[in-house]
Amino acid sequence: MALLRFEALKTLSERPRLPVELPDFQVSKFFGENVFGPDQMRSALVPSVYNKVRQAIKNHEKIDETTADAVASAAKAWAMNKGVTHFTHWFQPLTGGTAEKHDSFFDALAGIEKFKGSELVQQEPDASSFPSGGIRSTFEARGYTAWDPTSPMFIYGRTLCIPTVFVSYTGETLDTKSPLLKALKAVDNAATKVCQLFDKDIQHVSASLGCEQEYFVVDKALFMARPDLVMSGRTVFGHSPARGQQMEDHYFGSIPSRVYDFMKDFEIESWKLGIPLRTRHNEVAPSQFEVAPLFEEVNVANDHNQLLMDVMTRVAERHNLRVLFMKNLLRA
Ligand SMILES: [Mg+2]
Repeated sequence: MALLRFEALKTLSERPRLPVELPDFQVSKFFGENVFGPDQMRSALVPSVYNKVRQAIKNHEKIDETTADAVASAAKAWAMNKGVTHFTHWFQPLTGGTAEKHDSFFDALAGIEKFKGSELVQQEPDASSFPSGGIRSTFEARGYTAWDPTSPMFIYGRTLCIPTVFVSYTGETLDTKSPLLKALKAVDNAATKVCQLFDKDIQHVSASLGCEQEYFVVDKALFMARPDLVMSGRTVFGHSPARGQQMEDHYFGSIPSRVYDFMKDFEIESWKLGIPLRTRHNEVAPSQFEVAPLFEEVNVANDHNQLLMDVMTRVAERHNLRVLFMKNLLRA
């Protein structure tokens, strides 16, 4: 074990930096370029259809088939223009992460690229392996994902991702998004009634959230030498560090250069996805850091946080780093 650690230290000491440059020093030039948001919808849809979608989103109403067809066709054209080949319903099963099952726009039987409103609105991924393998028999494992139009579609890699809820065919919730949407609707209904006692014109009350994300960064070689980190993403064995949180030199200290490159890199990816990241700094424990966004509507903020953790994990790989989200000390 000790030998493995020395070898890991030697490997990491010889690693080159991966310098990262902003595509444009004005972030506003590329912020949200991979998001099919209200502006993109407005320019791609005829005004009557666009207004119908905005009204349905605002009032938590169902979007009819013709409107869904128009949105699907506009989203497909926008995405294909950016080199996208596949689409997926993007959901949050009870695994602590996100899930996706990609389908190609290309329909071999029709010989053309297709994306219908019905495919945007609902998909049927197998739910037998959620939240963990073998929990349901295949014959009763049908699950449905259903489009959540209150959170915008986005491009991730070469795939158009559609935020969705995930329920079983018996209507049971299988994800973390459906309970959140139900709670937000309940808060909206109750709070609006109270507000209307004072102002009859108030139609909706929405909640906002800006969740800071703390994380540890560890070199890939050191990570691979630690079976507990590999298996569980957190410290299971070890001893207290010689230099833990009792030292005050880390919090808000200068950011180590490899971590700084990593931060810049995932910030750029996140900005393109419309995630409003604002703040970065060293956290209190050794090798612990924090990133914080601006406040947004709760459902969108939550989707952005889920997406951010995925982006960070993928970008860390480019820098030969691993990122850990469990909030406990990394014991060496
Ligand atoms: Mg903090």
